[in-house]
Amino acid sequence: MDFDLTKDQEDIRKAAREFAEGEFPEIAQECDQQEKYPRELVTKAAELGFIGINFPEEYGGSGYGYLEKCLITEEFWRVDPGLGSVLISATFGADMVDLYGTDKQKKKYLIPLTKGEAVMGSAITEPDAGSDVAAITTMARKDGSDYVINGNKTFITNGTVASYFAVICLTNPDNPSRHRRHSVILVESDRPGFEANKLHHKLGIRASDTAELYFKDVRVPKENLFGEEGNGFYQFMEFFNRTRIHVGAEGVGIAQGAMEKAIAYAKNRKQFGKTLSSFQAIQFKIAEMATRIQAARNLVYEAAFNADKGKLDHKLTAMAKWFAGETGVRAAEEAVQIHGGYGYMGEYDVERFYRDAKIIEIYEGTKEIEKIIISRTLLGK
Ligand SMILES: Cc1cc2nc3c(=O)[nH]c(=O)nc-3n(C[C@H](O)[C@H](O)[C@H](O)COP(=O)(O)OP(=O)(O)OC[C@H]3O[C@@H](n4cnc5c(N)ncnc54)[C@H](O)[C@@H]3O)c2cc1C
Repeated sequence: MDFDLTKDQEDIRKAAREFAEGEFPEIAQECDQQEKYPRELVTKAAELGFIGINFPEEYGGSGYGYLEKCLITEEFWRVDPGLGSVLISATFGADMVDLYGTDKQKKKYLIPLTKGEAVMGSAITEPDAGSDVAAITTMARKDGSDYVINGNKTFITNGTVASYFAVICLTNPDNPSRHRRHSVILVESDRPGFEANKLHHKLGIRASDTAELYFKDVRVPKENLFGEEGNGFYQFMEFFNRTRIHVGAEGVGIAQGAMEKAIAYAKNRKQFGKTLSSFQAIQFKIAEMATRIQAARNLVYEAAFNADKGKLDHKLTAMAKWFAGETGVRAAEEAVQIHGGYGYMGEYDVERFYRDAKIIEIYEGTKEIEKIIISRTLLGK
C-alpha cells in the first residue's frame, strides 16, 4: 500500500499544523482549567475550511475523504487534544446526515456546520445504556405527523452548544429483535421540552462541552427521521465504523505530540551531569513510543485509505481505534515519566495530555468493545 501523501494532502497537513500551532497554545491551558468551550475557534477553523472538509462540495465541504480528515485530526490533537477534540467533534453526527439524510436534510444541516454557524452532536448514551446501545429507552412515540420524544441522554459531546443532534430513540419496542427497535431522529436544540445540563470536572478534554440531555414531550416532525424506522441500531454501527477512524487519528496525534515534548525535554534536562537523552532507559522509551506511533499511524491510514476507496472494514476500523487509543495513552504516560515531577505539574503540557488521552479508550466504543468487534470477526461469532 502506498501511503505517499499527494501534494494536496501535504498542503492540508501543513495548513492544519500551522493553524493549530498559531491558535492553540495561547488558549489551551485556559480552556482546560476553566472548562471553556472556545466557540470562536470553531468559527475560525470553519472559515479556513477545516470543518467538514470531507463533506461533498454541494453541501459546503471540500469533497476530501477520510484520510484528509485524519491528517487534520492528527495535527490538531498533536498540538492540543482538548482543542483538537472541540474542532473534530464540531460535526459529530454529520456522518449520520451524510449516510442517511435526504438531499434536503443534507443542505439544511451540513452547510451551516461548514460555515461555523452551527455545531452538531450525536446522542446515544443513556444513564443505563452505554456499550449496550440496543438497551436505549428514550422513547419516540408517533402522534399525527410528529414524534414525541421522552427520555434522558448523558455524556453528550456539544450538549449545550449544538444546534441539533442525531438522537437514537426507541420507536418499535415490540419488535422481536432488540436490534430493530430503534430509529435515529434529528432533534433541534430549540425545540420546547429540550434541556441540556453541562457536566463539569471531567478528567480531560475539558475544553470540550459534555452534557446531559433531557427530552420532555419534545415534538419533532416525522421528516426528521433518518432513513427508515427500526434501523437506528445498525445506522449507528455504520456511523461508528466511520467516525472511529478519526478517533484513531486522535490517538496518533496525541502520541506524536507527547513524544515530541518528551524528546525536547530529554535533550535539555540534565541529571548526573548528562542530559536525560543520553541514558539508554530514556532512549528506549523514545524508541518504543516512535515504533508504536508508526504502527498506529499505519493502521489508521490504512483504515482511512480503504474507506476512501469505498472498502470500509469494521475490523480494521476497530483495530485502528483500539491500538491508536492505547498508543496515545501509553505515549502520554511515558512523556510524563520522562518529565519526572515536572510532568506531574500543570505548567507542563504533558500533564494535560496524560489526562486528555484516556478518553480515546472510552468514547465511541470502549477498547473492550473494539476487541469484541475484532474477535467476533475472526471467530465468526
Ligand atoms: C467525555 C465523553 C464524551 C462522550 N461523548 C458522547 C457523545 O457525544 N455521544 C454519546 O452518545 N456518548 C458519548 N459518550 C459516552 C461514551 O460513548 C460511553 O461512556 C461509552 O460508550 C461507554 O459506556 P458507559 O460509560 O455506559 O460504560 P459501560 O458500557 O457501562 O462499560 C463499563 C466498562 O465495562 C466494559 N464492558 C461493557 N460491556 C462489556 C462487554 N460486553 N464485554 C466486556 N467489557 C464490557 C466497558 O468496556 C467498560 O470498560 C461520551 C463519554 C465521555 C466520557
